Amino acid sequence: MRKIAILGSTGSIGTQTLDVISHYPDQFKVEGLAAGTNAALFIEQIHRFKPRKVSIATKELADQLKQQIPADIEVYYGDEGLVEVASRTDADFVVTALVGSQGLPSTLAAIRAGKNIGLANKETLVTAGHIVTSMVREYGVTMLPIDSEHSAIFQCLNGESMENIKKITITASGGSFRDRTREQLQGVTVEEALNHPNWSMGAKITIDSATMVNKGLEVIEAHWLFDLPYEQIDVLIHPESIIHSFVEFNDSSIIAQMGNPDMRVPIQYALTYPERIASPAASLDLARIGKLHFREMDYDRYPCLRMAFECGKIGGTAPTVFNAANEVAVARFLRGEISFLHIEDVIASALDKHQLISMPTLEQIQETDRLTRQLALNIPFGLS
Ligand code: MG
Repeated sequence: MRKIAILGSTGSIGTQTLDVISHYPDQFKVEGLAAGTNAALFIEQIHRFKPRKVSIATKELADQLKQQIPADIEVYYGDEGLVEVASRTDADFVVTALVGSQGLPSTLAAIRAGKNIGLANKETLVTAGHIVTSMVREYGVTMLPIDSEHSAIFQCLNGESMENIKKITITASGGSFRDRTREQLQGVTVEEALNHPNWSMGAKITIDSATMVNKGLEVIEAHWLFDLPYEQIDVLIHPESIIHSFVEFNDSSIIAQMGNPDMRVPIQYALTYPERIASPAASLDLARIGKLHFREMDYDRYPCLRMAFECGKIGGTAPTVFNAANEVAVARFLRGEISFLHIEDVIASALDKHQLISMPTLEQIQETDRLTRQLALNIPFGLS
């Protein structure tokens, strides 16, 4: 039986992880759950999956929670609660499904405690890739991708040797605005941006898909997960999201991983790796789909992706700034403070003002993250 802890259990990946687990009660035991502020759903999850330790965002919510769940379940809260659930349970596998670089301390705590990681919190790897990957090596744990593109590449690489890779290609659906020109992006609403054509995901990642920041974060994530230089990482627009990504080898042979867009498949693969078990996801019917489409990535249409590649190549604190500025810009867009196209301006402006640190310590990364958030919050763009 695999023992699991989930950080971010009430979010999109968290709920789908529990959905996978619910199909196989004999194979998984939930040891710990951590959630943000959705107490009602969290209480349901606690009653259903009976973890030993739980954590919620604030002390106030923790006090409310204690009234409504069995008394033998330990309740924690805040950043320390996340670390507690990440590192001090009997779980051998921790699913990191928090949104944003707030997931960094708990992910590092889980690694230090010898837990294997199912990585859905890509911002962690973007903001501190060299520290996270060197700790994974130091503590001898495995980090399995849950992101669908990275799970695809990971599956394509089964039994292959890394030196035979010519390049990997991450596919991109193009997000909710893929058929609009930049002019048509002026004044788009939050509701329009949140309407992703293929995937059902959380708000932040759906906006990140529309700006192509998500693909940028995934490029940096792939660089660290697969230890590949940026020159060997490509991005291709594929509107149907059927080919989740592919690998080209030195002999020009390509192996791709395909399936209906359903996050439960990559989640389950990470949970059961190296085994495969039956999935609640529907089979892919290629005859019914008939055609798949592809088009070249347009880096003028999607400047955030260009910036992500640049930041990745520069390294050091550049990806930290890219990520932190984006997190703030997306939050400001969702609050109606800035327009959709200003998200890229906020990122560009934060990068422009940043003094690069080339081999940052964890403290320097956290300080850069904090300062960038402050700055990005105050970059004065009105609604346009
Ligand atoms: Mg993805």
